[in-house]
Amino acid sequence: MATPNKRHYSLLIIGGGPIGLACALEARKARLDYVVIEKGCLVNSLYHYPTNMTFFSTSERLEIGKVPFVSNNPKPTRAEALEYYRRVTVSSQLNIQLFEEVTSVRKKSNGGFSVKTSKAGYTADYIIIATGFYDLPYRLNVPGEDLPKVTHYYKDPHFYSLQQVLVIGAQNSAVDAALETWRKGATVTMVVRQADIGQRVKYWVRPDIINRIKEGSIKAFFSSAVAAIRDREVDIQTPEGIVTIPNDWVIAMTGYEPNLEFLKKTGVRLSKDSSQKPEFNEKTHETNIPNIYLAGVICGGMDTHSLFIENSRIHAKRIVTSIKGKLSGLHQG
Ligand code: FAD
Repeated sequence: MATPNKRHYSLLIIGGGPIGLACALEARKARLDYVVIEKGCLVNSLYHYPTNMTFFSTSERLEIGKVPFVSNNPKPTRAEALEYYRRVTVSSQLNIQLFEEVTSVRKKSNGGFSVKTSKAGYTADYIIIATGFYDLPYRLNVPGEDLPKVTHYYKDPHFYSLQQVLVIGAQNSAVDAALETWRKGATVTMVVRQADIGQRVKYWVRPDIINRIKEGSIKAFFSSAVAAIRDREVDIQTPEGIVTIPNDWVIAMTGYEPNLEFLKKTGVRLSKDSSQKPEFNEKTHETNIPNIYLAGVICGGMDTHSLFIENSRIHAKRIVTSIKGKLSGLHQG
């Protein structure tokens, strides 16, 4: 869908997630000359979510560009969301390059930016960074973490049937993985750093996991952490000391962090506190580097839970309004 060999765009959007696409829709509406560069497949993060995942948002809250998202379920599934964002992209003929990673963005001395990717080089007058937070899993930093039996991306329960599975974490992804694999016949143990199942777990799922633990179907070690992973067993540090249990697979649902190094390399300043929030104007989303904008969940820095699709769709309009204002010679605040 992208124009072959075109190397200059007025606007280059990094990331083809829901918010990068929302920016593309706004750019199209404003008749800007834009391109989206996405390092993986279309809506790459959503594609890598668990196969049977259900969103906590209702479908209208995941809509972009005012295109209706019709779902048969009160909460749409991952499959429906993939279909929706694909249909929006195709029907609006969005200009997008897939499987191409942006590796650097540099300011040119004569204005504008030079952008290097895994496949080509571009120049652009404006940049939107909408790179999300799903690429870098939090490491456990324990021996054995790099064994092939450890995954940070749970997909599907059948694979774990009749196996000894350890699930690390107690938020939505961990709870879904524990319940699904247990229902497909895995022997499931959970290791939870806190004293309880996460409060943010979907309200219709939380009682299910709590009851499975209470009845002993799923074993859970609370206030505990994995200490070591070996081929056939794992050590768990519990309040009572180390417990060793047999194990075939480890599903580490410990969360993900955004690629803040990319922002730093680009020159975007981050706050000094633990949130490492990037510096940007809340009205326009323009960063400390004029003409570089941030959109989507990356705006929260390490605080990846405050922004979702439903409350960051609005960024697209703010940014494109600012760019349009600049292009028409108006000065935005
Ligand atoms: P992403 O969707 O992460 O998109 C960023 C894109 O940028 C990715 O496709 C990535 O491949 C690409 N990218 C990264 N770096 C580069 C690079 N250097 N070059 C090119 N491309 C790059 N939110 C809701 O509103 N409702 C929900 O119900 C909901 N449920 C969720 C369930 C789960 C299991 C998870 C993990 C998240 C859920 N979220 C939900 C959060 C939501 O998915 C994210 O907030 C959303 O994906 C953010 O959109 P984004 O476009 O900012 O980032």
